[in-house]
Amino acid sequence: MRAGDSRGLRSESQIMSRRKQIYEGKAKILYEGPEPGTLVQYFKDDATAFNAQKKATLQGKGVLNNRISEHIMVALGRVGVQNHFIKRLNMREQLIRKVDIIPLEVICRNVAAGSMAKRLGIEEGEELPRAIVEFCLKRDDLNDPLIAEEHATAFGWASPSEIDELIATTLRVNDFLQGMFFAIGIRLVDFKIEFGRHFDGDTVQILLADEISPDSCRLWDLETGKKLDKDRFRRDLGDVTEAYAEVATRLGILKDNPGEVTNLSVVRNEKNKD
Ligand code: UDP
Repeated sequence: MRAGDSRGLRSESQIMSRRKQIYEGKAKILYEGPEPGTLVQYFKDDATAFNAQKKATLQGKGVLNNRISEHIMVALGRVGVQNHFIKRLNMREQLIRKVDIIPLEVICRNVAAGSMAKRLGIEEGEELPRAIVEFCLKRDDLNDPLIAEEHATAFGWASPSEIDELIATTLRVNDFLQGMFFAIGIRLVDFKIEFGRHFDGDTVQILLADEISPDSCRLWDLETGKKLDKDRFRRDLGDVTEAYAEVATRLGILKDNPGEVTNLSVVRNEKNKD
């Protein structure tokens, strides 16, 4: 969007320049929050795959992921999974608690797909005997390699008790999300989550952080097997944002106004309400 358009709308860069940027990732930007201990998480429309070798801008994706992640974090909070989400600020931003991210990607799988199907020679779509939790090291320069718990504890990326907590919480998140998605005709194949340490005085608490959205989950339609997630981008299947909007609609997020998020003119002209 260009600065200072004829309707007096503030441009994205004008809005964002008011805050100090802390970090820019592939799909999100973190800004300093209004209160100490808070951050603002901004969802971009950028999509990357294969460690950013494939890139695109998918108009409306950030708006959808902001809403879907909000919905899921709030629901998880209600069942006692403590997480960083405080409140949504506007179409692309949410207020979150500041945490020190544990440098591990925690992956949970119910059905063989993606890298595990390839690595172990299992056909994609095969139901796993039970949910499997894996750890990858968050290191883009190394392609986020799969690691053993032993590496995490020996190198001090997480303590043994933290690893136990990460696994237990991930399995709880999996149980909850499997049920939530099953109820709307979606099979939760796998997902990736991240955790952070939240310091409050002398106490350290582990919070679920980052996002949970079709960017970080594999979601297949129960009846047709249609992919409703980032594999549509990775595998050039087309209609990526339409699939994300389908997930949002089924979750009831867009029920009052299904065009709200996908209507591109709305997305282009969005204004921060703060
Ligand atoms: N995933 C993710 N970020 C990553 C790697 C994986 O969100 O950097 C998610 C991915 O969307 C899928 C799950 O984690 O839902 C398992 O991904 P996998 O290891 O199969 O890797 P991929 O096939 O995506 O390379």
